[in-house]
Amino acid sequence: MRKKDHKYIFVIGGVMSGVGKGIAVSSIGKILQSKGLNVNLVKVDPYLNVDAGTMNPTEHGETFVLKSGLETDQDMGNYERFLGKDLGEENYITSGMVYQYVIEKERNLGYGGKCVEAIPHIRDEIVRRIERAADVNGSEVSVIEIGGTVGDFQNAMFIEAARVMHMAHPGNVMFIMVTYLPIPGKIGEMKTKPTQNAIRQLNSYGVQPDVIIARSEVPLDKKRKEKIAVSCSVRSEDVISAPDIESIYDVPINFERDHLGDIVLSKLDLHKRAGKMKITQWKSFVARIKKQKKTVRIAIVGKYFGTGDFTLSDSYLSVIEAIKFSAYKLGVEPEIHWLNSQDFEDKRKLDTLKKFQGVIVPGGFGETGIAGKLAAIQYVREKKIPYFGLCYGMQLMVIEYARNVLKIKDANTVEIDAKGLNPVIGLMPEQKKKLEKEEYGASMRLGSFPAYLKKGTLARKLYGKEIVGERHRHRYEVNPEYIEILSSKDLIFSGVSPDKRLMEIAELPLKKHPFFLGTQFHPEFQARPLDPHPLFTGFIKAAIKRRTK
Ligand code: GLN
Repeated sequence: MRKKDHKYIFVIGGVMSGVGKGIAVSSIGKILQSKGLNVNLVKVDPYLNVDAGTMNPTEHGETFVLKSGLETDQDMGNYERFLGKDLGEENYITSGMVYQYVIEKERNLGYGGKCVEAIPHIRDEIVRRIERAADVNGSEVSVIEIGGTVGDFQNAMFIEAARVMHMAHPGNVMFIMVTYLPIPGKIGEMKTKPTQNAIRQLNSYGVQPDVIIARSEVPLDKKRKEKIAVSCSVRSEDVISAPDIESIYDVPINFERDHLGDIVLSKLDLHKRAGKMKITQWKSFVARIKKQKKTVRIAIVGKYFGTGDFTLSDSYLSVIEAIKFSAYKLGVEPEIHWLNSQDFEDKRKLDTLKKFQGVIVPGGFGETGIAGKLAAIQYVREKKIPYFGLCYGMQLMVIEYARNVLKIKDANTVEIDAKGLNPVIGLMPEQKKKLEKEEYGASMRLGSFPAYLKKGTLARKLYGKEIVGERHRHRYEVNPEYIEILSSKDLIFSGVSPDKRLMEIAELPLKKHPFFLGTQFHPEFQARPLDPHPLFTGFIKAAIKRRTK
């Protein structure tokens, strides 16, 4: 049940997108959690996709999979990493979900013959969902991020829902606006006008922010704070300076310099419920990020997206963060390089892999760049360079092994070659039905499933337990008909589903290779700053050893 006097903090963006609203929400959550409050973080996304599963990662960034299997925006990954806990599917709301629900309800006469309209029906459905997220997890405070920027047509209904909640829960709702203060090159001075305009625009919705988080390249001076305060009707103490900083994990600590936590507590009358800030562990994690002098060189071999490093890294956000957490734990700074797998179709280029201490082939779909990925996997297997395959990276590792070690030359995945004679990676039966009906949305094997780990294997040693739960997002799997032959030499399926039908982890024994392991699931979704993922840690450890050899 929802706690009495549940508090809601709405975070809305102004001026422009991409200035770190998601990190601001994660950081506010972290601060409140560190003060002993039970925090709930919610993302509302204005697009009409029902979930993020059908979106191209090069346009939208990574699809983050929740424990429940819901495919969400990458911000949810940041929320989970900052809070160090799993979030429920109630915590992710899209316009698509809201409209789909309202339209279906209308078709079932759920509105008793009324004319169904955006106001009140869509708005009230948004309110119901935000309140439900608080109901389900029994938290005390919800921080709700409204996707997009004020002034967008798409998110107006969400701001309207927030306004209505402000009236319905007097004293328990506050608004924070995250804006940006540019310093135009020629002028050389930090300008507040875009922020003033954004606040006015928000005011036109009937919403006045209680706090303004002012992002900029450098810290705000007193003069700028006062100017924003006077023109936007907030106290200058309530203007938080949020300059660019090295690591996103430093943001909560930086917000605390301007006392954001206490400001929120007093505005929502939460002081009585909160305790003293406990953030030492987080602080020492952040200190470790800055301290590392030694590096570990990791290559991620992926298909070429053609849109530059920024997009590439956004598509694999959780993988990068997982690498970092384990590297920091082991006292090294990861140096991550993006390699275009298509380059390796020219075998002479494979030697470039030699200078890396570890190679990852991450998840992916389709045929582009596959030949190069297979060539790279063969190279690192033979040269004993630590290899970690994630989902597609595990399937390809099995195909490479079948082709080059077991001499099944035409071994392939049905995803690429539906008619091939040796489909070592096949389509799961339930997936077949869905594809025949062209059901693509939320149709993969999604979310957390248990795996049993075999005694004496590397996986079992790294996890240190027999049963693990990991998150999945795939359509294909190791074909059960080939398990026997695939396991006839050194390759071991060290993790299997409880019914032993699905192969969850494949590995080569340590005496054959320092680290050659792939997972059908995505371990990166559960790596946390204060709790790095054991498989990533094992991989980085092996990578560090390669250097010292
Ligand atoms: N394309 C593969 C499958 O659907 C792998 C998916 C992935 O890497 N997430 O099974």
